[in-house]
Amino acid sequence: MTNHYPTALRRATLSDGSLVDVRIAEGRIIDVSPATGHGGRDELDLDGALLLTAGAEPHTHLDKALVYDRLRPDYGDLLSGIRQWQAHARHLTEEDFADRARALARMFLANGVTAVRTHAEIFPSGDPLRCVRALAGVRAELSGVMDLQIVVLPKNDIDDATIEAALDAGADLVGGSPHTAADPEGELDRLVAIARRRRVGIDIHADERLDPTSLTMRRLARALRREPLAPGTTAMAGHCVSLGLLDPAALHDVAEDLRRAGVSVAAAPLTNLYLQAKDIVAGPVPRAIAPVRALRDAGVLVCGAGDNVRDPLNPLGAADHLVTAGLLVAASHVTIEDAHDCVTAHARAAMGLESAGVEAGRVADLLAIRAPSLAAAVAGGAYDRVVLHRGRVVAQRKVTERTVLDR
Ligand SMILES: [Zn+2]
Repeated sequence: MTNHYPTALRRATLSDGSLVDVRIAEGRIIDVSPATGHGGRDELDLDGALLLTAGAEPHTHLDKALVYDRLRPDYGDLLSGIRQWQAHARHLTEEDFADRARALARMFLANGVTAVRTHAEIFPSGDPLRCVRALAGVRAELSGVMDLQIVVLPKNDIDDATIEAALDAGADLVGGSPHTAADPEGELDRLVAIARRRRVGIDIHADERLDPTSLTMRRLARALRREPLAPGTTAMAGHCVSLGLLDPAALHDVAEDLRRAGVSVAAAPLTNLYLQAKDIVAGPVPRAIAPVRALRDAGVLVCGAGDNVRDPLNPLGAADHLVTAGLLVAASHVTIEDAHDCVTAHARAAMGLESAGVEAGRVADLLAIRAPSLAAAVAGGAYDRVVLHRGRVVAQRKVTERTVLDR
């Protein structure tokens, strides 16, 4: 594929059905106007393809990705998946982490995702920072192609100095999973203290369990309401499965804390449908996902995450934000449009990125898809795609399909 910076996208269809031309300069949209023709040499004729804001993945694991086939993990729950991953990861090299991260980043890009936030593990033995270094290297390779953010994901027994060393080695934010600690509140406080000390954002794995009393995200929100993090940083709580079990009044209280503290929530429908209640074969099988509609109605910034892709915690995953949007429609009962916002505009906002989309002044991170409508695109199917990052064409897909029914 040649590098291509089109000065205009001709004959793009917007979600409302209108046909427009979109002029681009220096990575931004400078004008959207009714379509006038096929355009010239430095322009890209989309021939009526649907033009959308590019996808953003707010919570994934490039470091764990794509080991499912080599590992064939035993059937198990979240903790057994983590154990099997850690036994395997002990032997993995920096190069192996980088290779798989690069492969998954490529999958995201080809699908139209131009911004990715990944968590990066620290290992208690061997070279603890090899994964962070690998991801920082991939981020450098992807400069100008994709925005990649790295969250250091320490287990609870990793000391402060090692977490700070990970930040020195290239991690952008502090993460962790306080709900898995013996003292969840103490662990949450420790992670917040590191984020404050280093003046970086925080992004925790929060309360990924079917237990309505597990509410570390509320402690995070209250801590940040008392004292916000450094200006320009973001705070996110991923999963928040326990919120799906609260009664409306209790949920409203937590949502108020999250909203006032500016803590966004990343719902991860695929992983949480897969992982929770896996051990139950018969009888009621409870599931829970962060309650997207109620949180949105309460003014919380909610985004949709693809999370794990073909690793010990999830054998599935397509690295496609439109698939995540479809899962939000099915499992969280949001509209097609709201689900699409969750994996595009809201995900970018939660990641602290500038607004993108088909509007003058916005960053030209776009996905042109040859689907007949947004609903059809979210419903799934193989469609041609063209992906732009800051005005540059960074991926193209051409689908060839023939059946005996075609003439
Ligand atoms: Zn995760």
